[in-house]
Amino acid sequence: MNDLNEREQICEIGRRMYQKDFVAAHEGNLSIRVDDNKILCTPTLRCKGFMKPEELCVVDLSGNPIEGSGRPTSEIKLHLKVYNERPDVNAVVHSHAPHATSFAVARVPFPNCMLAEPDLFLGEIALAPFEVPGSQAFADSILPFVKHTNAILLANHGVVTYGKSLEEAFWMTEILDAACRTLIFSKLLGGPQPLGGPQRLTSDEGKLLAQTRQHFGFKDPRPLDDPNCDVCDHFLFKSTWKSVGVCDTAFNSSEEKPQVSLDDASCRRIAERLAELINDKL
Ligand SMILES: [Zn+2]
Repeated sequence: MNDLNEREQICEIGRRMYQKDFVAAHEGNLSIRVDDNKILCTPTLRCKGFMKPEELCVVDLSGNPIEGSGRPTSEIKLHLKVYNERPDVNAVVHSHAPHATSFAVARVPFPNCMLAEPDLFLGEIALAPFEVPGSQAFADSILPFVKHTNAILLANHGVVTYGKSLEEAFWMTEILDAACRTLIFSKLLGGPQPLGGPQRLTSDEGKLLAQTRQHFGFKDPRPLDDPNCDVCDHFLFKSTWKSVGVCDTAFNSSEEKPQVSLDDASCRRIAERLAELINDKL
């Protein structure tokens, strides 16, 4: 096997995915572009935590099996869509990382300008509409987003990330899931802003992170020099939300203004004071 190194990488990342609970049983799939028309991928119905290099499958860019006795993952069409649309991508990771998947199930768009790490390494994250896993429609569901981001939440299903290497693609899933976990916990702390709950960075601070990300060498399609480009307000993907059924309430600060409610005694005191003021004027 002249692709032994890539096979071992897939087995190693599969182990890490399983250990981190990003996949259960035989969930998830991984692939690497080995050359122009050769994709190494995980077999279907195999636990990602215990794979052996010789069990992996090889398909061409149309999905035809070339090597391997097992059946390639049923979600290979999703991976091929990424490889065909993104010549710069050499590896794809699909998992059901639980915190990121929670956002996908709740159809909550991942908020930028909350945490430095995802803004630096991921940029804006898309949320694709639900389609039956394994179908061509499922693979096609990422088409509007795949060129503009390296991380896509899949509605009511999971997450797909991709990059120059398998390590990089996996890091994106790790960064995204860790950020989603922190955001969920921050919501649990509750309380109205500005007293508690998630706080958003300013638009200028968010832009600074996005510019730093560009200096790191990550491509970012957002026009960061354009004053109308608000990186904290889902600049790239907001227009797709209606068709996907996305609901931006969990981290939308305009929805989280402090709700002031007064108890009966306070209301009575205010009413009495108002009555006094009115009497003074009469
Ligand atoms: Zn899946």
